[in-house]
Amino acid sequence: MTKQEMGILNTAEWNVKQTAGRLGLTDTQLAWVSEPRERVEITCAHALPDREPTHVKVFVVRHNDTLGPSKGGIRMTPTVTLDEITGLAMEMTWKTALVGVPFGGGKSGICYDPASGTDREKEKVIRSFTRGVARHIGPEIYIPAPDMGTNERDMGHIRDCVSYSSGKSITQGCFVTGKPVILGGIVGRREATGKGVVYSIQEACDKLGMDISKSRVAVQGFGNVGSVAAIEIVKHGAKVIAVADHLGGIEKSDGLDVVALAEYQNNNGSVKGFPGGTPMDKDDIMEVDCDILIPAAVASVLTEDNAHKVKAKLIAEGANAPTTPGADEILFEKKISIIPDILCNAGGVFVSYLEYTQETQREQMTLQQVEGRLDERMRETFDMVFKAMKPGDSMRQVAMNIAVGRVMDGMYARGMLP
Ligand code: NAD
Repeated sequence: MTKQEMGILNTAEWNVKQTAGRLGLTDTQLAWVSEPRERVEITCAHALPDREPTHVKVFVVRHNDTLGPSKGGIRMTPTVTLDEITGLAMEMTWKTALVGVPFGGGKSGICYDPASGTDREKEKVIRSFTRGVARHIGPEIYIPAPDMGTNERDMGHIRDCVSYSSGKSITQGCFVTGKPVILGGIVGRREATGKGVVYSIQEACDKLGMDISKSRVAVQGFGNVGSVAAIEIVKHGAKVIAVADHLGGIEKSDGLDVVALAEYQNNNGSVKGFPGGTPMDKDDIMEVDCDILIPAAVASVLTEDNAHKVKAKLIAEGANAPTTPGADEILFEKKISIIPDILCNAGGVFVSYLEYTQETQREQMTLQQVEGRLDERMRETFDMVFKAMKPGDSMRQVAMNIAVGRVMDGMYARGMLP
């Protein structure tokens, strides 16, 4: 397989293998740190109103739980695969280790198109998923959260399903994060990833001599992460000049009204057709003439085909694994800085950790407390990575060295490695 054809799992395996080389790990150590602990595929049956009973494939992967229970979102797309979920779970292991929360890496997937039916139908699918994976989730095992295609409403149904199946109003400990605030969710979780992306961009701009307030920004994906990041970066004075999603793109050289765009997207399911800008080909978003590019949609969108056409000076990986290894090399040679996903989008899992502790302690945090801690942790983590960089290092290499090193330290401390 060429670097060009690599999917999420191959990219994740490539990155950890490169890291093992830099850290001088043996083959046995590499296998221990990179092989998933558990990969589960379950078939869930459910009956949708007015439809034949059908079945849905679901996946749960617990990649590594050395540093704590596995943490990672639920991806719901019609094409999700066990390998994709494994790659994403592996990324979560490094992300949680890097941002310093006591979790390991996990992820789950539901092979279903959330746009194909009503909210009620989606609820049935989520409840089937919860029944199917019941023995694989729990506060000490794996704690899911929203990812692409799932949201806080779905997390509320998971919590309800778990608590009522044991005849209780609440769960003992935190089974799921990203819940509605009224059900024990935490204020600011929905915005945490997008805001964290911008806090790390701000740090990068300060250190790289860029002025965030004068920057022109292009964003791919206008869901949870992309829309919040766009709205937040505009508050810092930047102009969002182009946005694309799965259906289309929109551009405006003197800056889009991103709040109006978010409202339009909410009502129409896409940014396509937004009257406040000019339509653009969604596939051109990576090549827009801008200072900062935020891929916040799917994986493997920066490839050997388009990397040499990127004009941005800084790429902030809001999405997981948006850059293939081949593109990574090209962008490095072009001296384009990349804030790697395990650092850039770690704000979501950090605030999930706050939700986990809040629920365990029956405590309530204010928005100011949550945002203050998020800001502080994102900046500290960025600083730690940046300070550890030596000439010729990429941020991804250094972030991976620290993250894999921490998991190895945990394995030694437990006695899992001789
Ligand atoms: P979402 O479902 O809310 O939004 C996804 C967006 O991507 C939508 O605008 C969709 O139209 C767009 N999109 C989908 N396929 C596309 C394509 N082929 N080309 C262009 N655009 C496309 O998802 P989200 O929660 O915003 O997650 C986005 C990315 O961020 C994912 O890679 C996810 O794993 C990652 N991430 C999310 C969180 C979180 O807290 N939600 C945390 C860390 C990482």
